[in-house]
Amino acid sequence: MPRDGHGRIIDYLRISVMDRCNLRCSYCMPLEGLKFLPEDQLLTAAEIQMVVEAAVNCGFRKFRITGGEPTLRKDLLQIIGGMRSVAPDADIAMTSNGILLPGLAADLKKEGLDRVNIHLDTLDDQRLRQIMRLADLDKIMAGIEAASDAGLTPIKLNSVVVRGVNDMDVVEMARLTIDRPIHVRFIELMPFGSGEPEEIAQQKVVPSADSHSSIESALGDLTPVPAKDPSDESRNYQLKNAVGTIGFISPVSDPFCAFCNRVRLSAEGKLLLCLLRDDEADLRSVIRSGMGIAGIQSALEAAIMKKPVGHALDQGIHASRRMHEIGG
Ligand code: SAM
Ligand code: SF4
Repeated sequence: MPRDGHGRIIDYLRISVMDRCNLRCSYCMPLEGLKFLPEDQLLTAAEIQMVVEAAVNCGFRKFRITGGEPTLRKDLLQIIGGMRSVAPDADIAMTSNGILLPGLAADLKKEGLDRVNIHLDTLDDQRLRQIMRLADLDKIMAGIEAASDAGLTPIKLNSVVVRGVNDMDVVEMARLTIDRPIHVRFIELMPFGSGEPEEIAQQKVVPSADSHSSIESALGDLTPVPAKDPSDESRNYQLKNAVGTIGFISPVSDPFCAFCNRVRLSAEGKLLLCLLRDDEADLRSVIRSGMGIAGIQSALEAAIMKKPVGHALDQGIHASRRMHEIGG
């Protein structure tokens, strides 16, 4: 198992395959002034496969495809198939806004994808258009249905809670877990990258404790569900007699840096060592240097040793990349 310089086991690689998106969520991408990577700078499916093979050799056991919106990649099936061929026993998941899943879910499963997390901030169509701009509730619901039919389960729904926009909707989102086997996770807004002044974005952060008490007031007690994996960033609960579960991810009010087990690969091949800091290593030049899997493996191990101990969001320090470039 690879360990970083602080003794943490690092065995989870999140791979962004695309910085573009078919939505413009208000906290992730401004509507204007965006610059995207040229296609020829994106890692190819074969290059992603090489990184995954090197990571498996290091001891990585979990992979997640993300973006931008990963389903916009024309060669997504090839990417997943290539990953599965070199990581037969790994957990391979994907995070998506779900819109293009109806045409893809069954083939993704066939290529070896295990499960998906789908991003849905509210069940109110009007507020959805306000927060996940360009989104359409029916299309996201169809994506959830398709993922479920294809067996890309257990499905997790990710909901970013924004004060004054969808904080009143946590109850209806939580209610979904009563008769469906899904895991709804409420994520605290990370207040940067939206294009608006950060002091305004900070006022929109809703601490997980507030979402937790809104749900308990409306739907009854939340019973803690013990973590199966200590590096799970989500604190999990269940409503009485519910089939599914509810989670709270609290990067602002309760960072889980001490248990962090992950690094990220950006779409252009930078290894990002922390979600909220700029520390990175250039893997693409190693991949394209001809040093092969062994060279990538050494570069990965050397970079992991430099993973920072934690973030400093409370001091206003954060990564200069936006979330759609990092992969969330
Ligand atoms: N497009 C896919 C999606 O939306 O799930 C994958 C990429 S997106 C960057 C990954 C996750 O980042 C999203 O599910 C969203 O919950 C989260 N995210 C984006 N911007 C965020 C922010 N400012 N604060 C908290 N979470 C954010
Ligand atoms: Fe696109 Fe995901 Fe960012 Fe929303 S959060 S704009 S769906 S990348």
